[in-house]
Amino acid sequence: MDELILSPIQEINVSRRVAFGVNAIERLTGIFEDLGIKRLHIFSGRTKTKEITEKLVIPQISGNIEFEYTPLPDKIDLSFLNKISGTIDRYQTYLMAVGGGTVIDYVKLIANMSKTEYIAVPTNASHDGFSSPYINFLLRTQVDQYFKKELSQEYCPISPLAIVGDTTMISKAPKESLKAGVGDILSKWVAVEDWKLANRLKGEDYDIYAASFSEMTATMVEERIHDLGKNFFGEKGVRALIKALGSSGVAMCIAGSSRPASGSEHLVSHALDSLSFEYDFEVLHGHQTGISAILMMYLHGGDWIRIRKSLKKISAPLTLHDIGIDRDIMLLALQKAQHIRPERYTVLSEGLTRSAAENAIEMTGID
Ligand SMILES: [Zn+2]
Repeated sequence: MDELILSPIQEINVSRRVAFGVNAIERLTGIFEDLGIKRLHIFSGRTKTKEITEKLVIPQISGNIEFEYTPLPDKIDLSFLNKISGTIDRYQTYLMAVGGGTVIDYVKLIANMSKTEYIAVPTNASHDGFSSPYINFLLRTQVDQYFKKELSQEYCPISPLAIVGDTTMISKAPKESLKAGVGDILSKWVAVEDWKLANRLKGEDYDIYAASFSEMTATMVEERIHDLGKNFFGEKGVRALIKALGSSGVAMCIAGSSRPASGSEHLVSHALDSLSFEYDFEVLHGHQTGISAILMMYLHGGDWIRIRKSLKKISAPLTLHDIGIDRDIMLLALQKAQHIRPERYTVLSEGLTRSAAENAIEMTGID
């Protein structure tokens, strides 16, 4: 008889309720009732998302739901978040984040500190942070230190209990941020290529379920771009984008890591983030991953032209010049990227020489 091999248990924790579409915020109270939520602590930013929360979101909350509301500043001390978490009754209160990546990341941290669950109401679609259990790369280093030192615990990635993606609201977000969302989604082609490479060369576990899910998000957006072209940013296109970004989080939940959504192109973007202070530039995450995806797909010997074509169709940035980054900074980022997360094997892991990097930049025309 064959020996019985027991595979390790795979647990998949995904959001319980997800609503996308026109005026989806009208579903809020229904979702709270279904989930048995009676008390909420709402968070937003202090400018645009505060206005959205006050004018559009709070008026949707009806019935017997009690809530408290705190607009958060852009830059925050982690001890401030910890203080807020101390005021939250973990047995009765649920958190709700209304905003972009920063607010949602802060709420993920408060949820971690107070051991509560949270609902994400993204106000734009510039990356997949609203559906992902993970937080922004730059914040992560700070968080790891703080959690270890002050809280004697580790940050535990948790996916949102519910996601409400209102396409009416999100269609009004700045077009640049939506273009960035497309750049984040198209980068999944590369992330999956890197994962396959790690499987072939290093024997890393590859999960076809999670990988296919991630590739599907890119296909969904790509097909819509082909259908709609320049009209992609209407409701139909934005719906495909928000659905794709939401599903990218599911792919990460299936994998139990960000592997299906983040490969060499994200490492280059993280490297650019870490250089951004020294060289004083600020570029949207999705613009960085979109352009890096073209470059990394070239290094894989894959169809980089396809990624470029899709980005071009929606007039997203295609070159370093478009995003205001110097070629030398990109070369520096490409050197740095391979050391950022050494355990994540990618096409960059064996080392990229300066001349090969220059050649890739030239061949792909991202200069
Ligand atoms: Zn991303």
